[in-house]
Amino acid sequence: MLKINEIFFSIQGETTYAGLPTVFVRTTGCNLRCTYCDTTYSYYEGEKQDLETILKEIERHRTPYVCITGGEPLLQKEVHELMSILCDRGFKVSLETSGSRSCKDVDPRVKIILDVKTPDSGAADSFLLENLNFTSETTEFKFVICSETDFNWAEQFCRQHDLFEKFCVLYSPSYKEIEPRWLAEKILHQNSSARLQLQLHKYIWNAEQRGV
Ligand code: SF4
Repeated sequence: MLKINEIFFSIQGETTYAGLPTVFVRTTGCNLRCTYCDTTYSYYEGEKQDLETILKEIERHRTPYVCITGGEPLLQKEVHELMSILCDRGFKVSLETSGSRSCKDVDPRVKIILDVKTPDSGAADSFLLENLNFTSETTEFKFVICSETDFNWAEQFCRQHDLFEKFCVLYSPSYKEIEPRWLAEKILHQNSSARLQLQLHKYIWNAEQRGV
C-alpha cells in the first residue's frame, strides 16, 4: 500500500520531458518544508491505495510518461515496487526527489530528477551527497533559484561536483519571486552551463490548477 495524495493527467512542466502529456502520481508526506512549497496539501492529505488500483488509474490515461512526485516519494518504500512494475510494463518513469533520502534502491531504468535545495529554500544541506553515486546519464539536477545567493550557491555546487560536465542541470526561477529574465541574464553573464527552465504548467494554468 502507498499513501497517495493525487493522481492526475497533465502536461509535464519541467525537466527535459517538459511539454509531454504525463500522468503524475503524487505521494503523501514530505520531510522538508521549503519556503516556496506549492504543494503543502501533500504533507498529510491522501489515501492508502494498493498497487493494482494505482496502476489501473495510471493506465487509464494512455500515455507512456509517468512522473512520481510528492511530497517526497522516497519516504515510502513501496514506491520502488511501483516504479519497477511501471518500467516492466513499458512506461517511461521519472522520479522527482529532493535527494534528501537515499536513491540507492531506485530502479536504474527510472529517470531521477534531483531537486537540490538551495539556501533560500530553507532546506539547504538536505541533499545526501551519497546520491551522487546513484546517478546515471539520464539523471537531471534541478535548482530552484530564489536570489543571487542561491544562484552563486548552485553554481558552486555544480562546479564542485562536476555536474555541468556529466548531467543536464536545470535552473528554475522561484515562481513570482524571481523574474525569468533576471535568471536568464545571470546565466548568460556568469557563463553558466545551466539550462533555464520555466515551470511550464504555471504559465498554462494558474498556480492552483494542475491540468485535466
Ligand atoms: S521538497 Fe517539495 S513538497 Fe517538500 S516542502 Fe520542498 S517543495 Fe514542498
